[in-house]
Amino acid sequence: MNPVRIVGSGLLGASLGLRLRQLGVEVQLEDTSPAALALARDLGAGQIAAEDSEEPELVVVATPPDVAADVVRESLDRFSRALVTDIASVKARVVEEVEGHPGADRYVGSHPMAGRERSGALAADADLFIGRPWVITPIGTESGGRSGSETEEAPAGAATEEAAGSDVVLAVQQFALSVGALPVVMSPQTHDRSAAVVSHMPQLVSSLVAGALRDVPPETLGLAGQGLRDVTRIAHSDSRLWATIVAGNAREVARVLKEISANLDRLIAAVEAGVDDPFALGVLSGVSEAIRKGNEGVERIPGKHGGAPRRYGNVFVLVPDEPGMLGRLFAEVGEIGVNIEDLSLEHTIGREAGRAMLSVLPHETMRLAVALERRGWRVVVEGKENHVGVVIALDGPSGSGKSTVSKKVAERLGLSYLDTGAMYRAAAWHCERRGIDLDDLDAVAEATVAMPLDMPLDPNDQRIVCDGVDVTQAIRESELSRVVSKVATNLRVRAEMKRRQREIIAAAHMGIIAEGRDIATVVAPDADVRVLLTASEATRLARRAREVRGSDDADALEATRDEVLRRDADDSTVSEFMTAKDGVTEIDSSALGIDEVVEAVVSLVPKERR
Ligand code: C5P
Repeated sequence: MNPVRIVGSGLLGASLGLRLRQLGVEVQLEDTSPAALALARDLGAGQIAAEDSEEPELVVVATPPDVAADVVRESLDRFSRALVTDIASVKARVVEEVEGHPGADRYVGSHPMAGRERSGALAADADLFIGRPWVITPIGTESGGRSGSETEEAPAGAATEEAAGSDVVLAVQQFALSVGALPVVMSPQTHDRSAAVVSHMPQLVSSLVAGALRDVPPETLGLAGQGLRDVTRIAHSDSRLWATIVAGNAREVARVLKEISANLDRLIAAVEAGVDDPFALGVLSGVSEAIRKGNEGVERIPGKHGGAPRRYGNVFVLVPDEPGMLGRLFAEVGEIGVNIEDLSLEHTIGREAGRAMLSVLPHETMRLAVALERRGWRVVVEGKENHVGVVIALDGPSGSGKSTVSKKVAERLGLSYLDTGAMYRAAAWHCERRGIDLDDLDAVAEATVAMPLDMPLDPNDQRIVCDGVDVTQAIRESELSRVVSKVATNLRVRAEMKRRQREIIAAAHMGIIAEGRDIATVVAPDADVRVLLTASEATRLARRAREVRGSDDADALEATRDEVLRRDADDSTVSEFMTAKDGVTEIDSSALGIDEVVEAVVSLVPKERR
C-alpha cells in the first residue's frame, strides 16, 4: 500500500502515520485543523498532502464518527481508484450512509480496537495497534440494528461471504496485519453491539464514577487506592469525541445502560434494606449476587494477547521507600527468570513501603514468591494471604549428609534453606580475622553480636558474605573446622545465634528448612517437622574424607578424624544431636542413598503442605 492518505490527524491517525513511516510507507496527512496537521507532521507521522500529491492507493478516514461518512464519500469522489476505509468507532451508521454511493465497492468500514485515555496527535504511539483487534465491517446480511438479547442475535462475523472476500476487505485485512493488528471480520451491527459493551459502557461508567468525586473533600480523596484509580483511569477522555461516539451508537448504548440501570436499581433496593438491619438477608444476598456476577463476568475477559481467558497469579512485594529499590526488584525478578506479564504499583500514604503487584503466569507464582523471599523481600501471594510455609528443623552430626539432603528438600518443596553451621563458621572466621583469642569468651561473644552477616537462603546460591567479604570458601577450610567448636561452645555466642536464626525462620513465610545441631531442640522446637539425621561413625568419616580430601583411603580417614569425631564430641557438650529427643524423628542414613533420605524427610511433611 503506497502511498497511504490519512484524513484526520488525531490520536489514531497520527499513530497510524508513525507506524507506517516506520515501515517505509509514504504517508500523506490531511486535517481540517492546520495546527493538528503540523503537529502530526512534526512528530514524524507523514507529510502534509498537497494538491499535486500522487493519488493514494488507500485512504484511511480517521475523523470523528459524526463526519466520517461525509469524508468517506468525498474521498471516493476525489480519488477514482483508491480503496477507502474509515476507522471511526461506530460502524452501522457510517456504512449505511456510504451505501449506494457509486464508489461504494471500493469502501469498507473498519475499527481498530485501540485507544488511550488521552487524545490528539501528541498522545500518538506507533505501537498503539500491536496485538489489538482491527474489526473490518463489510455490509452483511443484517440491516439496521436489531434489538434483543445477545444470544438471539447473529454471531459475530455474520457478514456475507461474498462481502467478506472482496478486494477492499482483503486489502484492509492486509493493511491491519502490516501495522501489527489482528484483523477480525464482522457485520457493522455486530460491531456496534459489541463496542457498546466493551468500549462505550466502560467509558460512561468510569465517567459517572469519576463525576461523583467532584464535590468530595480532599481528605477523602487522600485515601484513594488502586481500585478507584482503576475504575476511573479512562475518565480523562475527550467529552466532544465521546458525545459523537455515543450518539452514533445510541440504540446499542441505550440498551446496555438500561441493563446496568436495572441491576443498579436492584442493588440499591438491597442495600437500602440494610439501613435499619445491616444483617438483613436481602442485603447480603443482593450485594453478594452483584459481586458474584462481576466475578463471573471478569473471568470471561480474554488475556492481553486476545487468547483464551487467562488469569495471572499475583505476587505482592513490599518495596521499602528507598531510592533504587524498585530497580533492584526488577533486576532480581529478571535474574530469577520469571516474565512479568503485568505490573501495578501502589504507594499508600503514611507507610514506609510501597506495594508492587507482579502478575505472572499462574504456574510461576510460587516460584517467584519463594525466590524473592529467599532474597529478602517481603512477599504475599494473592489468594494465599494466610499461607504459612512449612518449617523443617533438621539436625545431625558432621558427615550425616544434612546439607546435601536439606538443599534437595528445599528444592523439592520450594522452601528457603538455612545452614546454621555456616553461621558459627562465619563467627569463627570473623573473630580470627580480628585477631581475637578464641578462648576469650567475652571478646568472642561481643565480636559475634556485632558481626555483620548476610545469610543466603537460596539452596542453589550459598555465597556467604561476612563484614563485606565473600567467605564462602574460607569457612570450609580444615583449619577453621578445627577451631569452630570453640566458638560454638561459647554460650553467649549460642544465644546470639539462636536469636538471629529464629528471626530468619520467622521471616520465611513461604517455608524453610534449617539444618544444624540444635535446631529441632532449641532454635525451633515448634517446627512442623523435626528430624535427626544420623549415620554410623565409619560412614560419616568416609563421607567427610571424600568431600574434603577427595579420597577415603586410610590417610584421608585419619586426617579427617579430628574434623568429625573430635568436633562432634566437643559440640555434644552444648547440644544434643546424637540421640533423638521426644517428637524428633530419627533417620539413619548409613544404608540409604541421598534420594531415599530426601524422600524420607519429605514424607514427614503433611501432604497438603507439600
Ligand atoms: O554443620 P557444620 O559442620 O557446618 O557446622 C559447623 C560447626 O558449627 C559445628 O561443628 C558446630 O560446632 C557448630 N554448630 C552448632 N549448632 C548448630 C550448627 C552448627 O553448634 N545448629
